[in-house]
Amino acid sequence: MLSATGLVKTYRDHRALDGFDLTVDSGEIVGLIGHNGAGKTTFIEVVTGLVRPDSGALRIGGIDALRAGHGVRRLTGVAPQELALYNVATVHENLRLFTELRGLRGRRRDAEITQVLEELHLTDLASKPAGTLSGGQRRRVQAAGAMVGSPALLLLDEPTAGADPETRSALLSAVKRRAELGAAVLYTTHYLPELVDLDATLALARGGRVIARGTQHALTRDLPGELRASFADPAEPDLQLATKDPGADLAALLASGRVPVSIDVLRPSLEDLYLSLGCAVTGPEDHDAVV
Ligand code: ATP
Repeated sequence: MLSATGLVKTYRDHRALDGFDLTVDSGEIVGLIGHNGAGKTTFIEVVTGLVRPDSGALRIGGIDALRAGHGVRRLTGVAPQELALYNVATVHENLRLFTELRGLRGRRRDAEITQVLEELHLTDLASKPAGTLSGGQRRRVQAAGAMVGSPALLLLDEPTAGADPETRSALLSAVKRRAELGAAVLYTTHYLPELVDLDATLALARGGRVIARGTQHALTRDLPGELRASFADPAEPDLQLATKDPGADLAALLASGRVPVSIDVLRPSLEDLYLSLGCAVTGPEDHDAVV
């Protein structure tokens, strides 16, 4: 559904995108992660047509999106990192605008709005001006604006930033449902456990490129996990062992005659993956701590 090849975007002497390649298939959720300044938002801005790349190719639904007119953007729903709503308009009016931009009118439009309001637990807020809502409620409206009209490609740039657990869970459920219905979803976050909940495939960005791409299982398979144990004998220190073969190490532990009172086998986490790829190395552009 989305295919980007070799995208380059330079700001003065800085390459925000430096040969950025990424595909997202219909029904797939891709978690795009990487430190502050890795190029994630710039990539989304290129896909939405806000920023024109210096070079590279971009196809949306098989159409050359860098040459096509505005029509191809109708396939795309975006929730940008910065909230962009009409504060004086009600939630319903905001969603109506998003739906009409996507070319829907009449009963189909109204049905789409009703559904997305329910999906994101916004029905009771539909007649309130967006400017009177809390930050988390506005985040939900922004995500609803991306999803309404069922676009084939969803771009969600840190949609849960600052969200409370209820908002987060409503958003994640809605994202999963959209993917089940066939949308291609690109999802950026600094909160890695969300990507486990979404069962997303991963794309790790660094320095304006995607440096690793695959399923969570494939990318973490070869990393060491951890074996932890504590023992009945108080003189015996706790065990904390990085291991690529926890089964063999566990067997060795049990054969050793020591008597464990608790054993934990920890699989490699997304955070381990992130760190192993040097994504948390801070650069001059980094503003915040990562994960
Ligand atoms: P974050 O996690 O902080 O959202 P990001 O991965 O989305 O970061 P981008 O916002 O794409 O990163 O920024 C990539 C690089 O391009 C950064 O070094 C940033 O300072 C630079 N950049 C982005 N937009 C502009 C702009 N309009 N003018 C100049 N430099 C820019």
